[in-house]
This record gives sequence, structure tokens and C-alpha cells, in this order.
Amino acid sequence: MRTPVDSRLLDEAARFAFRFSCDDCAHFDADRERCSLGYPAAPRRDALERAHLELCKDFDLG
Ligand code: SF4
Repeated sequence: MRTPVDSRLLDEAARFAFRFSCDDCAHFDADRERCSLGYPAAPRRDALERAHLELCKDFDLG
């Protein structure tokens, strides 16, 4: 699902320390900069700088 990145999302992301990116996911191989499940590594931390955010259903804080 594509979510518009608006001021409310940005405010709540900051207030609640929103974690959503591969960089914070247990499946992310940081040394190789890739997803260990074989998906394209997205979204990354800069995703909130774009117009829309698409979350990964397999995100896992671990
Ligand atoms: S499972 Fe999804 S969020 Fe986690 S590293 Fe892979 S693509 Fe990124």
C-alpha cells in the first residue's frame, strides 16, 4: 500500500521514532546492502523524503 508522505506522517514518525526501513529490519544484510530474503532492499531510511511510502510486509524488528 502506498501511503502519502504528508506533514502528519512526518510528525508522527518523529514523535514515535517510526522504524520501517530495511536499515532497521532483521532481514537486512548491512554488509552487502541487500535483503537476505531476496527482495529489492526498500524502503530505505530516506523514504520519508519522497512523496509516497511503501512499507514492506516482511519487515521485522527482530
Ligand atoms: S524484509 Fe523487507 S524491510 Fe526487511 S530487508 Fe527485506 S525488503 Fe527490507
